[in-house]
Amino acid sequence: MAMDAITPKEQITRSEVERPSEEDAMNAVRTLIAWAGDDPLREGLLDTPKRVIKAYREWFSGYEEDPVQYLSRTFDDVQGYDDIVMLKNIDVESHCEHHMAPFLGKAFVAYMPTQAVVGISKLARVVEIFSKRLQTQETMTAQICDAITESLAPMGVAVLIDAEHQCMSTRGVHHKDVTTVTTQFTGVFKTDKDLRNRFLRLTDR
Ligand SMILES: [Zn+2]
Repeated sequence: MAMDAITPKEQITRSEVERPSEEDAMNAVRTLIAWAGDDPLREGLLDTPKRVIKAYREWFSGYEEDPVQYLSRTFDDVQGYDDIVMLKNIDVESHCEHHMAPFLGKAFVAYMPTQAVVGISKLARVVEIFSKRLQTQETMTAQICDAITESLAPMGVAVLIDAEHQCMSTRGVHHKDVTTVTTQFTGVFKTDKDLRNRFLRLTDR
């Protein structure tokens, strides 16, 4: 697959862009409402800009956190455990950078530990941090893989995301029930076909 993988380090972080004021952001929402054809001063829409920027804080909260730092606390005592650690069915609620439309789906993340493991909830959190930013599904898949590789130095990482893009289902081509699957494999998941197949079977796809 042709893609320019952006590592977490190259990602734009909040501090690099000047943040407009809340009033500026709310005015932008009013402009979009008027552009859509409605009256932003109509009673039902009066508080909408406030609600929209509150929602934006949540939808795009991933700029505030560094996933690599999040994974930095590891546990060394794994009593000789040396097989796949995998999280299945992690919710993905993201927005595509092309349309700012939601894409919703599931992520499956696995790694093959060396000595250190990480708290499993943190892997889900890494998916969430990247989800709460604007990007493409392809980029996000690569970024999750890179962040885990960088912080845990495992023998390999496997990531699969399966998501429905509303920019495709509610507009444009209007294809319902089409999902996009992206995968990224590193290390042993790349070189060992049996291991990769085991991961794919565990995703129940
Ligand atoms: Zn899109």
